Amino acid sequence: MDTIHEMQQELQHLEEHSNLRRLPKMVHDGRHVIVNGARMLNLSSNDYLGLASDRSLREEFLRTLTPDTFLPASSSSRLLTGNFTVYEELEAELAHLFGTEAALIFNSGYHANTGILPAVSDARTLILADKLVHASLIDGIRLSAAKCVRYRHNDLAQLERLLKEHHSAYRRIIIVTESIFSMDGDRADLQALAGLKRRYDNVLLYVDEAHAFGVRGKRGLGCAEESGCIRDIDFLVGTFGKAAASVGAYIVCRKTVREYLVNRMRTLIFTTGLPPVNIAWTLFVVRRLADMQERREHLAHIGRTLREALQARGYTCPGASHIVPMIVGQSADTVLQAEALQRHGFYALPVRPPTVPEGTSRIRFSLTAEIRSEEIEELTNYLTVHTQT
Ligand SMILES: *Cc1c(COP(=O)(O)O)cnc(C)c1O
Repeated sequence: MDTIHEMQQELQHLEEHSNLRRLPKMVHDGRHVIVNGARMLNLSSNDYLGLASDRSLREEFLRTLTPDTFLPASSSSRLLTGNFTVYEELEAELAHLFGTEAALIFNSGYHANTGILPAVSDARTLILADKLVHASLIDGIRLSAAKCVRYRHNDLAQLERLLKEHHSAYRRIIIVTESIFSMDGDRADLQALAGLKRRYDNVLLYVDEAHAFGVRGKRGLGCAEESGCIRDIDFLVGTFGKAAASVGAYIVCRKTVREYLVNRMRTLIFTTGLPPVNIAWTLFVVRRLADMQERREHLAHIGRTLREALQARGYTCPGASHIVPMIVGQSADTVLQAEALQRHGFYALPVRPPTVPEGTSRIRFSLTAEIRSEEIEELTNYLTVHTQT
């Protein structure tokens, strides 16, 4: 009884500070969502290439299926009887595309990030993680036995000092970063990070390409491809849940790392494998990523247009990607502004603490290649000028 009462009070506190979250009720209609009867352009989707809303792509995939190949369940962990040949086909395809020795598939990016770090670190490991890494990486660090220091966001000078100071006291140091950051849409300098790690033989690099896989690079393999440093990254991770319009995640890595994870990674070992039909769909999409260059270029173009419009209205808009933050400040103002955009037919969502630091509540535009330039132009008419709060 007391517990329930305490929970209610905490929820009420969240509500009073405009930080209460609810599961939104919505109906999807291609690029649009219908919420409370209002049809709005979806500006908050991670379907970056527009593949999830591409009906003809689904039709083409469905034609490849028969009742014998439409397998909706793996019915077991991959280490028992849940390993199907299509898993190995996808892993071979990824290793081939990235030019790495091996690849391994996981159930989600969350499984990947909460499973890999605990598997590859022990009490003599130091993790140096960017201050802004995703919650799933933070949880992975918490589940590991490693000691962890967070460096200031993209501050490579501080990272360099930390490496110098600690490298001899630890058996292993793992630098952890995203390539495109979820909330600011800015990028890590992967070449510089690779350069830093190469100075020490006990330093490894872990890069999460969740927002870059499918979106960046000539063949859509991510920022590592774009900056030519796939081979320098020891743990190159990405999700299929965003641009690849599916579910699941991957690591591309050395053969030994793959074998080690198969033996040590609890979020791989102790969970039912994804349905083979999902893996088949992912493979179908992954094989087409190289041909999506036009979509990638359009996405980059509308991202630039929106960013410039926000900067012209006084917002500091860091980075250069399809994730465009409009940092308002206070949560209540941010919620009001998001509601105003929604009344004009743009489904933009507020992001508040604890997802972002206190005082940096924002509207996070997450653009997809399906959004037209004219729609961005129209959106910019409704963007208010930034006022200091
Ligand atoms: C979305 C995301 C994840 C989680 O991936 P899922 O496949 O959705 O579990 C991990 N890391 C980052 C940076 C993300 O943005």
